[in-house]
Amino acid sequence: MKRYSVFAVARQAFAHHQGWEKAWASPEPRARYDVVIVGAGGHGLATAYYLGRNHGITSVAVIEKGWLGGGNTGRNTTIIRSNYLQDPSAAIYEKARSLYETLSQELNYNVMFSPRGVMMLAQTEHEARGYRRTVHANLLQGVETEWIGPQRVKELCPIMNIDGPRYPVLGALWQPRGGTARHDAVAWGYARACSDMGMDIIQQCEVTGIRTEGGRVTGVSTTRGEIACGRLGLVVAGHSSVLAAMAGFRLPIESAALQALVSEPIKPCMDVVVMANTVHGYMSQSDKGEMVIGGGTDGFNNYTQRGSWHHIEETVRALIETFPMLSRLKMLRQWGGIVDMTGDRSPIISRSPVEGIFLNCGWGTGGFKAIPGSGWAMAELMARGHSPLAAPFGLERFREGRFIDESVAAGVAH
Ligand SMILES: Cc1cc2nc3c(=O)[nH]c(=O)nc-3n(C[C@H](O)[C@H](O)[C@H](O)COP(=O)(O)OP(=O)(O)OC[C@H]3O[C@@H](n4cnc5c(N)ncnc54)[C@H](O)[C@@H]3O)c2cc1C
Repeated sequence: MKRYSVFAVARQAFAHHQGWEKAWASPEPRARYDVVIVGAGGHGLATAYYLGRNHGITSVAVIEKGWLGGGNTGRNTTIIRSNYLQDPSAAIYEKARSLYETLSQELNYNVMFSPRGVMMLAQTEHEARGYRRTVHANLLQGVETEWIGPQRVKELCPIMNIDGPRYPVLGALWQPRGGTARHDAVAWGYARACSDMGMDIIQQCEVTGIRTEGGRVTGVSTTRGEIACGRLGLVVAGHSSVLAAMAGFRLPIESAALQALVSEPIKPCMDVVVMANTVHGYMSQSDKGEMVIGGGTDGFNNYTQRGSWHHIEETVRALIETFPMLSRLKMLRQWGGIVDMTGDRSPIISRSPVEGIFLNCGWGTGGFKAIPGSGWAMAELMARGHSPLAAPFGLERFREGRFIDESVAAGVAH
């Protein structure tokens, strides 16, 4: 694969940009691969990438029923942070955040990582106490965060009203190296690198069945034929329970739509990410100028990937006291993605009850930020049978009661 560079852009400019090769191949599925990954979202593609890069396993197919990155990966609000409370979470999210720092160079693909800083507002005394505790935990974990007062919040984000009558801003948990990245570029960058290593990315190919023999996986049935494999990774977010049912086991996962919306584009007015968890809304400004606004999950389980009117009203109403300027903006579009939530709001990166099947799911409302770390850990688990980063996130923790409770850090926010 030809490298992208300033010289390549200049050369192509002279050739009217007709000479670019396709970023990834679209091959017909082969009869057998060493590893099949179901789901070409960020986590599936990152898993494939690190299988090749870190472990030399390249007989890999990534199978996607729709289009690459068309699931939650291309639908999220792109917040990247690692200020979680529990040690195992801080470890994997910080690994991911630090990989994001150099991902564009690593993949030779601009994922537009923008460490502009993320603040989580404290708008009740309870929240202020909780975030101070998180700062102490993060200090011990080696994650750089700090507690900042209301005046500093206002300096960092002048459009904010910090003296709201119901929910004044008491301070914030600030992570200066948190930020955003371009979501679909992350999927595209990994896909291009996987294709370059000789892996097959097969789109428009739905897995309809999982074949096993003597308690061991042997392959998958798809809408484009049978594919045999030695190891199978299920990385399908909100459809994890559906795929697990095909393999004959159940998962402690609930699936529901999570919604987001964007405003009309306006001039640059906010260069940080703000999350307001008490009122329940979060916002950043995209490079196009749109205010990117995240809401909550639907109050019932479902598999619909669309928005609903009352969510626009609820989310904008929640934010307007703190961001009065929102009342003068038109909302442009909204959408939903199917998120996969566990009871402790932590992911599952694990072996499964069927030998050879591995699970990566349960990232719920906050897995975009984890993509590089998750792929790193899942690849290690699939290649070596063990991964220190993944070990605490095993499926057995639900039976053994070893929950990694992140419901404060992840249950609402992203
Ligand atoms: C509105 C919204 C806002 C969010 N905001 C944030 C945020 O700000 N920060 C953050 O960190 N996270 C956020 N998230 C969460 C984040 O998007 C997800 O955790 C993450 O993208 C999950 O990635 P994935 O690769 O596991 O899943 P996906 O990207 O959903 O990929 C799974 C893929 O599996 C495919 N698939 C399913 N079934 C089959 C089958 N039978 N055969 C073949 N393929 C199949 C799907 O088509 C899909 O493409 C948000 C999510 C939503 C919906």
